[in-house]
Amino acid sequence: MRFAEVDSFDQWRAEARRLLALDVPPADVHWSTASAQPSLFDDAPAEASHRPHRSVSTPSPAFTVPPAFLELAREVACHRDPIRWQVLYSVLWRLLHGERALLKVTVDNDVLRLTRMRKEVTRDVHKMKAFVRFRKVTDGDGEESYVAWHRPDHQIVRLAAPFFSRRFPAMHWSILTPDESVRWDQRELHYGPGVPVSEAPNADALEEVWKTYYASIFNPARLKVRAMKREMPVRHWATLPEAGLIEELLREAPKRVGEMIERTEGFEQTAMHYMPAELDLASLRMAANCCTACPLHGPATQTVFGEGGENARLMIVGEQPGDQEDVAGKPFIGPAGQLLDEILGRAGIARHDVYVTNVVKHFKYVATDSPGASSRGTHRLHQKPNSREIFACRPWLEAEIATIRPEAMVCLGVTAAQALFGRDFRMTQQRGEVLPTEWCANTMATWHPAAILRMPDPARRDQMREQLAGDLRFLWSMLDRPPSSELPPASSH
Ligand code: SF4
Repeated sequence: MRFAEVDSFDQWRAEARRLLALDVPPADVHWSTASAQPSLFDDAPAEASHRPHRSVSTPSPAFTVPPAFLELAREVACHRDPIRWQVLYSVLWRLLHGERALLKVTVDNDVLRLTRMRKEVTRDVHKMKAFVRFRKVTDGDGEESYVAWHRPDHQIVRLAAPFFSRRFPAMHWSILTPDESVRWDQRELHYGPGVPVSEAPNADALEEVWKTYYASIFNPARLKVRAMKREMPVRHWATLPEAGLIEELLREAPKRVGEMIERTEGFEQTAMHYMPAELDLASLRMAANCCTACPLHGPATQTVFGEGGENARLMIVGEQPGDQEDVAGKPFIGPAGQLLDEILGRAGIARHDVYVTNVVKHFKYVATDSPGASSRGTHRLHQKPNSREIFACRPWLEAEIATIRPEAMVCLGVTAAQALFGRDFRMTQQRGEVLPTEWCANTMATWHPAAILRMPDPARRDQMREQLAGDLRFLWSMLDRPPSSELPPASSH
């Protein structure tokens, strides 16, 4: 029996390479988690938790595994269950010993365990995004920064931190957790040791801001105490300044329901407030049907959530549903959707491999009396969603991506591209480039079929159509290529 002690994905991978090189089967390895990461108050240096694994004297051959496994392993490694290392090695061993398609066997016990752990990690990341609250602190030089303390269920700081750097790029902030801390200096993320709750900053002026915010978005018409406890677990309440308001809000809820009917709901909320506890497509779709996080829900007929299988390899993201989609409640069924279907077919991409959705789930339009009327008898002119509406709706898109985990993503049109790549994205310069984003290693932006249909110049229209087909074909061919050596030889460093 061999003993392997690891506490991070990198350490597990190094140890797995070494054991594979020695041809050690899973039954002959006892995996355990190394001691917890040091806190600020341990004597050991902070780098200890990320130390390079011990050197190996014998180089090993390269091992090639499906990229999907490495992605899965990276996230499962953040789970707290000590069995994760054993199950990961077992699946890795089987992938390399004749069961190449093992990950597709969703009823396999090992695959099921990994999938369950990944779901729990994903859900924890969502909770962290929703429940972290920053408090302002001022240092001796008068420099302001924002600090939050959070206690996640799993070791997810590195999975969640990029979200906060994107959401609060112009702030100096730190998030402290018992496992690990992260600091953002407006340029990059720095990771450090964990911090106990006793070191977290106390109440300050920012707390009042959060309370006001929470009171303004608290929707008494939707009040369900059990659901609230599930969505905002009681153990998080201690770090939420708004928790002190809950009792008062509960008391006042009936009165506020009446008031809310009288006025438009506040807009300072996002779809995160409607996020269900379960991150599966059926639960997400049902919850999104009730979303009123931005004004777009008012004039629209219904929420148009994404469609496709949970195992789709390719996710296609458009801007928003159009007139026909709004009426039918299905994305990409109008003329643009039909053109997309035709081009997908030409690119050899089966519909069941595709999940289609939009960055905004309600149709934004202005009604006119002009002819060319829609099914409602008025002409509804598409309006581009603004940045606040995209921001409000973003949690739905992120939840779809987290649930499906596509191997590739395509943004159709500038709105979708800028939502995923950032506002500096330029379609004329970057169309067709495959770039990594925090959601997917293979993300590309290309023409929206609606833009092709609107193009008045026939020659240019044909050219754009060919470019869209070529872009999709290229991206798809990348997925069919054999993966590169994802487990290169254990080095002899
Ligand atoms: S557009 Fe998105 S955020 Fe706005 S109400 Fe619809 S689903 Fe909610």
